[in-house]
Amino acid sequence: MTTPLIALVTGANRGIGRETARQLAQDHGMTVFLGARDTAKGAEAAESIGAGVIPLQLDVADDASITAAIDQISKAFGRLDCLVNNAGVDYDTDQRAATVDLTRVRAAFATNLFGPWQLVVQALPLLRAAAQARVVNVSSGSGAMEDMRGGTPGYGVSKAALNALTLKLADELRGDGILVNAVCPGWVATDMGGGGRPIPDGARGVVWAATLPPDGPTGGFFRDGRPIPW
Ligand code: NAP
Repeated sequence: MTTPLIALVTGANRGIGRETARQLAQDHGMTVFLGARDTAKGAEAAESIGAGVIPLQLDVADDASITAAIDQISKAFGRLDCLVNNAGVDYDTDQRAATVDLTRVRAAFATNLFGPWQLVVQALPLLRAAAQARVVNVSSGSGAMEDMRGGTPGYGVSKAALNALTLKLADELRGDGILVNAVCPGWVATDMGGGGRPIPDGARGVVWAATLPPDGPTGGFFRDGRPIPW
């Protein structure tokens, strides 16, 4: 019997994160830490999925919470095979860049950029301890420079920055055998999406990047397992 791979999915109490945790546990046999900033919601989501899922208090905008979460994974398993930076906030369709409330933009950056960044920094020893770690940054077509227009300023610019971070990390961690990719799940019918395709379809492309073979791509931007323009 092989030892299960260990995964952490952030913002996994609902939406794409929850479904990603479910697919990694049930379809890929991983042991999944289901990150949720609200302990009760995390426990409920983990219980609804069942075996192989461990709830983990994790607010990615709170450094102390990140430290405690990584410490818990370290003590339990000493390695992390798969980090899915899924937590995301504030699809700010009501804002324009020229008149934006920067307090909101800073809050969006705290979760959409600095959270994933700090998690990678803190998890790095655990990622290096894994045989072939994968990092997935759940991004958005809204962050693509090629088609960057006005509107959704905090969200779009924070996801563009997350894409840039993906390239930096992929390049720096290539030598460690860690594959780092950005994934747009498409338009998905979650609380954030408010419409769009079924959640399992959106999560599938995230899971694809979280389970890449050792010779899989790194430093890419994908939707449904296919490259999309930065
Ligand atoms: P969602 O239904 O709104 O879920 C967002 C999740 O992130 C929730 O579990 C939320 O927890 C969590 N979260 C927010 N701030 C957090 C923090 N500081 N620490 C930890 N968790 C936090 O959104 P979704 O549609 O599933 O989105 C998942 C990812 O896909 C996001 O990165 C989003 O930008 C991206 N995306 C979504 C779409 C779409 O159409 N849905 C399109 C492109 C990209 P609470 O329940 O505590 O709020």
